[in-house]
Amino acid sequence: MGKYECKVCGCEEFISQLLQYDVFEHQDGKLVFIKSEIVEEQLELFCRDCSEKISFEDEDVIY
Ligand SMILES: [Zn+2]
Repeated sequence: MGKYECKVCGCEEFISQLLQYDVFEHQDGKLVFIKSEIVEEQLELFCRDCSEKISFEDEDVIY
């Protein structure tokens, strides 16, 4: 068993779930898209296949 694999399904790919939202601004009666922002909280990773939450060491994360 690898160090990081899903306990439920064995998948070795994980996805983060950062909160992202788009900012719109009122301009002359229109709503104009300004930018996307990401709410960066603590990184959490979930199994890509079954969404099981994965626990991991922060120092093992390589961007
Ligand atoms: Zn899984």
